[in-house]
Amino acid sequence: MRKRLVAGNWKMHGNRAANAVLLEAIVAGIAGDVECAVCAPYPYLVQVADRLRGTALACGAQNVSEHAQGAYTGEVSAAMLADCGCRYVIVGHSERRQLYGESDAQVAAKFAVVRSAGMTPILCVGETLAERDAGKTESTVARQLDAVLAGAGAGAFANAVLAYEPVWAIGTGRNATPEQARDVHAFLRGRLAEQATGIARELRILYGGSVKAANAAALFAMPEVDGGLIGGASLVAAEFLAIARAAH
Ligand code: PEP
Repeated sequence: MRKRLVAGNWKMHGNRAANAVLLEAIVAGIAGDVECAVCAPYPYLVQVADRLRGTALACGAQNVSEHAQGAYTGEVSAAMLADCGCRYVIVGHSERRQLYGESDAQVAAKFAVVRSAGMTPILCVGETLAERDAGKTESTVARQLDAVLAGAGAGAFANAVLAYEPVWAIGTGRNATPEQARDVHAFLRGRLAEQATGIARELRILYGGSVKAANAAALFAMPEVDGGLIGGASLVAAEFLAIARAAH
């Protein structure tokens, strides 16, 4: 039985005072048998990890360097994230792929370093609107998944998390329908099952893209949808808590 996960991606938002208020509200309101995480900007990871320690929520990062250490000015290693108290790390978010040119190979390397550091990668895959319109949804997410399978091996997906995030749904207010999400999740699970059936059965696949309190229950009603990766709505405690309740 896969346990649902609801992870917030704060993106580049927040400050120490506002974070403290948001974290208090989330910790006070969280209930039920659902795992939750908050993926915060680098400078606030220690603040978030310290506040969430001993609660049902975990701290996560939004990115990581693919290098272990060295002369990589401005980069942050997986070991540093683990040292700050992170349990999860988002890798391959579409904003990283699109705005910062992260390649499939780089994403695969990031996935591997997160695993090596003992944390859980949340690997994001998803197609653009042009790719969906051209009937290339499956080939796009397959290419993204296959790169990580080739680089890290199917075994590295044990206890990892996959997030299907159609690019056209991120921050646009337009979510995938529950059926669209179900179909892509089933495709991804089947793809992994070709190499590792048991791991594929246990893999949590989150949906991300304009999830809100109003649409979460319908998305989570799909048996293939094991929770959500939540951007904008994770910055509003009442919204995030309602989404977590919908996952329960
Ligand atoms: C995200 O950034 O991963 C995301 C899903 O954003 P939003 O929920 O705002 O669409």
